[in-house]
Amino acid sequence: MALTGAMLIGSSAVSASDSTMKALDPATGRQIEPDFALGGPAEVDRAARLADDAFDAYNGTSLQERATFLELIADRLDGINRELAERAALETGLPVAQLEAEATKAAVQFRQFAEVVRQGRFRHATIDPAQPERKPRPRMDHRMQKIAIGPVVVFGASNFPISYSVAGGDTAAALAAGSPVIVKAHNAHPGASELQGRAIQSAVADRGLPEGVFSLIRGAGNEIGEALVDHPLIKAVTFTGSEAGGMALYRRAQLRPDPIPVFAEMTSVNPTFVLPAALAARGDEIGDGFAERMLVNVGQACLKPAILLAVHGPGYTEMRDAAAARVSAMAARTMLTPGIHDAYDRNAQRLRDSGAETIAKGPEPQGVREGRARLLEVEGDRFLADPTLAEEVFGPSALLVRLTDLDQLLAVARSFRGQLSATMHIDEPDHGHAVRLLPILERRTGRIVVNAFAHPQEVGDATIHGGPFPATTDSRFTSVGMTAIDRFLRPVTYQGFPDALLPEALATVNFPELSRGIDEHHTRG
Ligand code: NAP
Repeated sequence: MALTGAMLIGSSAVSASDSTMKALDPATGRQIEPDFALGGPAEVDRAARLADDAFDAYNGTSLQERATFLELIADRLDGINRELAERAALETGLPVAQLEAEATKAAVQFRQFAEVVRQGRFRHATIDPAQPERKPRPRMDHRMQKIAIGPVVVFGASNFPISYSVAGGDTAAALAAGSPVIVKAHNAHPGASELQGRAIQSAVADRGLPEGVFSLIRGAGNEIGEALVDHPLIKAVTFTGSEAGGMALYRRAQLRPDPIPVFAEMTSVNPTFVLPAALAARGDEIGDGFAERMLVNVGQACLKPAILLAVHGPGYTEMRDAAAARVSAMAARTMLTPGIHDAYDRNAQRLRDSGAETIAKGPEPQGVREGRARLLEVEGDRFLADPTLAEEVFGPSALLVRLTDLDQLLAVARSFRGQLSATMHIDEPDHGHAVRLLPILERRTGRIVVNAFAHPQEVGDATIHGGPFPATTDSRFTSVGMTAIDRFLRPVTYQGFPDALLPEALATVNFPELSRGIDEHHTRG
């Protein structure tokens, strides 16, 4: 599929009205063809109007129709798997094989959401039947279901250019909910974005859906993102990226005359606690596994375990040496963008300025803007005294925190801000300590892992990829996994409706298939 560089607004391919940009090969710093059109508020308005026009028809599609549409997108993604991975590799410096797996995962997510749609339980359809004889007041028939929130804007991430980007989980979940989607493509991978966008655009056309169900927009600077968040026809926003970017968009959305939710996933250091018995028994194995996981995707991953904490005692030196050995052996690799590379070097320097000592480094980089692996170490007292040591360094760097005793471990655990995940390495004798650590972690994270590392490949009903601020702006929801659909739904009650006017999910004939329950909880008279 030849790239055109156009934006995709509804069924149209829109060329530049104003300016263009080229993709950058981060491995060489050279520009790559073709020119990509950049839009502004006029394109935002056109896409938002089309999305709004499409809303009623799309939200009203049958579950079968919608599921078939999602499966067609999955098929289209499979059809371009290799081409998409190769283009994404050129634009991000990530390996083709890894990106093929990412494209496969994206297709799988659409199929998983198709299944969620078919099952219909996401609607939470519930009936409180009429009780005409009830005293002292009769009860009317009440039926509740969840419907789509309205047109959704998705800010694609830079670090997973497929599965968190145009055809990523946010888009799949919003389309599954019945919301039209406008993607603000990340400028770090415009070609990969166009390929994914065209796969979705063609599926919209082939299923005969209204063209505004999907649009893809690109722009320079903050103007386009701000115009999208400000547009009165947009009803929710998802974002994956920096805390500064996510919070700028969140605050902006709250200042609208009609504030809307912004589900921003921003920053997490995913602390890893190693308790004494586990440390003594397998410190080397834990140190090696930690460093291996930390280096995945050149450390540019939201679930990267960035901080390793243990009480100094038996096994500590083995853990430290094993992590250091893996970091020392890791060749420097190309980072996603010049900006991300420069921020990485700046932030690693920040850790050193705060008193962390470098204990291992990968070999000197050979190419431009390669991220050099680093392992630093700091004492628990200093870590507690300087909260900047607990901030994310996006890239292949990790911090080892040497603690004096269990009380200090618990104090450090309490000092963390909200996280996507936290990990405990424990053996049976550690259970007493783990019981004290667990409630501290529960309050601060969306996922707690035991004797493993959080893995982004797992996407299922029980997956939570969320957590208290600043991991996200709304800890009640996940951005990955099947319940990610809940972000784009809102409940509506239908009171006293005749059968003929009831929506599909609430028609008595469709119960119990689509139901959560009939009269599960009696209301008071
Ligand atoms: P970013 O700078 O936050 O940008 C993400 C997207 O939001 C881009 O499309 C960007 O548009 C847009 N945007 C950002 N700030 C905006 C604003 N104030 N107004 C309107 N639009 C705005 O993230 P990034 O480019 O992916 O990477 C930069 C840094 O983010 C990294 O160094 C890293 O620290 C962090 N990051 C963290 C994660 C994670 O999972 N924890 C993931 C990705 C990035 P433009 O590109 O046009 O500015």
